[in-house]
Amino acid sequence: MNQQALQILKTYFGYDSFRAYQDTLVEQVLAGHDVLGVMPTGAGKSLVYQVPALMHDGITIVVSPLISLMKDQVDALKQAGVKAAFLNSSLPPHERDAVIKQVRDGLCKLLYVAPERLEDSKFLDLCSEIAIPLIAVDEAHCVSQWGNDFRPSYKVISRFVSGLSNRPCVCALTATATNEVRDDIIKALELKNPYVCVAGFDRENLYLGVLQPKPADKQKTLLAQIKKHAEQSGIVYCSTRAATEEVCELLQEEGLSATKYHAGLSDLTRKRNQDDFLFDRARIMVATNAFGMGIDKSNISFVIHYNMPCDLESYYQEAGRAGRDGSSAECVLIYNKKDVITANFFAEKSAEERRISGMDPVLSEELYARDLERTRKMASYAKTTDCLRSFVLRYFGETDTPYRCEHCSSCEAESEIIDATTEAQKIISCILRLEQRERAVGRVMVVDILRGSQSQNLLRMGLDSLSTYGIMKEVSKTFVHAVLEALIEDGLLKVTDSKYPVVNCTQQGREFLKNRDSFDFKVAKTKTRAASESEGQPGKAKSSKVRSAALAQDVDQELFAKLKALRADIAREQDIPAF
Ligand code: ADP
Ligand code: MG
Repeated sequence: MNQQALQILKTYFGYDSFRAYQDTLVEQVLAGHDVLGVMPTGAGKSLVYQVPALMHDGITIVVSPLISLMKDQVDALKQAGVKAAFLNSSLPPHERDAVIKQVRDGLCKLLYVAPERLEDSKFLDLCSEIAIPLIAVDEAHCVSQWGNDFRPSYKVISRFVSGLSNRPCVCALTATATNEVRDDIIKALELKNPYVCVAGFDRENLYLGVLQPKPADKQKTLLAQIKKHAEQSGIVYCSTRAATEEVCELLQEEGLSATKYHAGLSDLTRKRNQDDFLFDRARIMVATNAFGMGIDKSNISFVIHYNMPCDLESYYQEAGRAGRDGSSAECVLIYNKKDVITANFFAEKSAEERRISGMDPVLSEELYARDLERTRKMASYAKTTDCLRSFVLRYFGETDTPYRCEHCSSCEAESEIIDATTEAQKIISCILRLEQRERAVGRVMVVDILRGSQSQNLLRMGLDSLSTYGIMKEVSKTFVHAVLEALIEDGLLKVTDSKYPVVNCTQQGREFLKNRDSFDFKVAKTKTRAASESEGQPGKAKSSKVRSAALAQDVDQELFAKLKALRADIAREQDIPAF
């Protein structure tokens, strides 16, 4: 590794070593190659451009989408002794001029700007006078229509870059890992033969858990989860403003120190609440997904999702805000089937908005199908008995081998492998019989047919005359559903969206029947998962207590308390968060 880079890492940022993928990326940037780094929130993307920025002559321009966060990032850099500044519309004109002068005088190494600035003539003049060796594009997925936060203004970046007299090296960073977004970024930013790195999705210190309480027990489950983290900071994510309000009120009524954040609050209130959380004046943040982009609070010990997000990217990004300081933290998803309906409703709403905005209907349909598929994957995560960590890593493309991490609720739940070959054959046969009749039905109907239901709908469609009608009468509904889900998950069946989601057979499913393959299926050994969850006491509670107790033993508590008090004093003096 480049010694000077290590020296800078130590001097300014206080770290002894780069993380595995950081060093490669830094080396690539230093060698002048364009790079695309895909790493989850908290992986340490900033250093990938900050360290090279301090080694290059001239100034590094950082394009960042959120004005509200630029100040925090710049403050943090200044705190570390780095000459940094930002330019955006929140600055009054005279301060903007002061920054421009500072840049012109060479008194700045990193300049953060919003993409809109790249079209401003005054700024362009400035750029023609100074040396710009490197451009970092943070949250680069904003350039992609496939991403969740597409910003048209990101489209100007490539024009800006090609307009400079010496083309700088471009370093694009994002936490969004889908292939479409990756390709889009490379194309839209016109990256030249970029070095692409997907890494860091495995966060060992995070415990991953899924709970599935009965709807009536949801609040109790939430409170029990929060109780496990006395005095620790955490976030509770909700899918709607209304739920956010309701949960925040619930926590406050319980005497917990909670604040809230969602798009329905005024800017001022949002800022105040966010600061309360960042500065540890409020212990728990209850928020919609509007909260958190770029938030660098290292001491978050838990992230609980009170509702299931629409896709796994969002989930893992939000959950990943826990445990940034490397100490053990918990990410728990409280899952309810209804959340899928809400997520699909959001997808439909976006599709409607696209229609109104006049988007090409074919593209719009594609995006809609993509949204539904992502939600389906998210729900699979919530329902899987596979290791949650390996599920995530496979999803993001960091690994393709399933394994057991022993640090998630799936691995900790006792499960057993059941031979479900006969059940699988019956289910697939049933789908094939339906296909012979050129019929496709949803999951519930498939199960009803197999179990010989007398439902009006079924009888009206004459499905009771299928040869597979009632052939699984003796099997519980839950079990038939579970095998059906497993078959979908394994790709033997697939769900296709027409007017509503219907189940079809895949080539793999046909071959399975033809070859008389066997089908193993993992299920929770006892029903304890559901039972203990409703009490909010999943098996893992114990183990994480044991872990923190072990940590605490190694610490001189008295000294630790003194240091914490001192830190709080210093933080207050300098008006920065204590962590
Ligand atoms: P991202 O932008 O990927 O979400 P950040 O750049 O904000 O992540 O970094 C997340 C946290 O990780 C920060 O607190 C940062 O100081 C820390 N960090 C980054 N690199 C290292 C490293 N090499 N060693 C220790 N901590 C690091
Ligand atoms: Mg970042």
